[in-house]
Amino acid sequence: MVNVDEKLEPILQEVLRRNAGELEFHQAVREVLESLGRVIAKHPRYLENALIERICEPERQIIFRVPWVDDEGRVQINRGFRVQFNSALGPYKGGIRFHPSVNVGIIKFLGFEQTFKNALTGLPIGGGKGGSDFNPRGRSDGEIMRFCQSFMIELHRHIGEYIDVPAGDIGVGGREIGYMFGQYKRLTNRYEAGVLTGKALFYGGSRARTEATGYGNTYFVQSMLATKGESFDGKKVVVSGSGNVAIYTVEKVQSFGGKVIAISDSSGYVVDENGIDLKLLKEVKEVRRARIADYLKLKGEGKGAYFVKADNGTIWDVPCDVAMPSATQNELTGADAKTLVANGVMAVGEGANMPSTPEAIRIFQEAGVLFAPGKAANAGGVATSALEMQQNASRDSWTFEQTEARLATIMRNIHDTCAGTADEYGAPGDYVLGANIAGFVKVAQAMDALGI
Ligand code: GLU
Repeated sequence: MVNVDEKLEPILQEVLRRNAGELEFHQAVREVLESLGRVIAKHPRYLENALIERICEPERQIIFRVPWVDDEGRVQINRGFRVQFNSALGPYKGGIRFHPSVNVGIIKFLGFEQTFKNALTGLPIGGGKGGSDFNPRGRSDGEIMRFCQSFMIELHRHIGEYIDVPAGDIGVGGREIGYMFGQYKRLTNRYEAGVLTGKALFYGGSRARTEATGYGNTYFVQSMLATKGESFDGKKVVVSGSGNVAIYTVEKVQSFGGKVIAISDSSGYVVDENGIDLKLLKEVKEVRRARIADYLKLKGEGKGAYFVKADNGTIWDVPCDVAMPSATQNELTGADAKTLVANGVMAVGEGANMPSTPEAIRIFQEAGVLFAPGKAANAGGVATSALEMQQNASRDSWTFEQTEARLATIMRNIHDTCAGTADEYGAPGDYVLGANIAGFVKVAQAMDALGI
């Protein structure tokens, strides 16, 4: 573990004490504070006015009851969360996650990461995150709709296009955003298009939003590879997950000439030696909403593809040149990183939020692997959400090409900002340090200017 600067250690200890038991939040804060020693050495001003303490404390945390009626007529109760972390740069912005593992610590870690990620986009958005411990798996469309409506009955009081703009995350896609937007409109009697992003195209969504996180991560890794005179062309790539981040990572990597050979979900992973068939993947995940094992059923046995159950191994056992973890937090452990390094991995781009454990990051960096942290590499999703807000505010709708071109420019800028900041602070090639410092300085400067 890297040591935190002695001036920052008491601040970290206070965060740990105040947020007892919230391990993911501790992990995210520790990583940022580990990077800030070099900043306070250069700019002692950032130790004044409790700036770092304030950045680690969410501005507002809302926890609420979400009652709903299932298809059997039983009343079910879940817990809803919205953590409005930081609004120095703009309205709170960040997704909503529906997953049984959700608790306040997870939402706080995500809101904290989101604050720096959103700052890195260079767009005027603050940081927030929300969600529920509701498990959408196996639920009917009617149950999903009733849950989303009940969730919005409370959430609507706290959001607005100038206040807080939620979007999707794990378990929340276009369908859920639609049900939530409909309920917000009913409750407020306002067609406030910019109150949620990730909307479908026909009622105010943006082209390229669905693709944006996966495309963005691929652009980021492309820029990183280019610093070594490398490209995706001919590279073997492993992408974990099979939600929209993973699917559109596969699409973009393939368009850059890379060969994606494995993809996963929580039940296991599929290897396809000939390269993942994107059409088949979309059929399984987007049309049938089925498990990844069905890829093999549709493809047929004996055609170079096989399925490995989660109990029998991890997707990181598959040798590759580039790894793009796009499932969930802490999915890639120190042991996985060792395997990947032993198998010659050259670059890692995090499509999910905090998918690599601190030990895994250390192993990658010590081995000289190009490592792109999620708060920089997966920022394309929220950046395109901000472009959706721009289109809503001007009652406009951009073409796919126009939107993707903006996304590509934003991702290259984020890459250059992280690389440039790492150089400036004496750690060339350390994208973790670069992202943490560049994100922090943007937020801290704004907070400083706005007073206490
Ligand atoms: N959930 C995504 C993220 O982690 C997107 C958030 C948004 O578009 O507001 O960045």
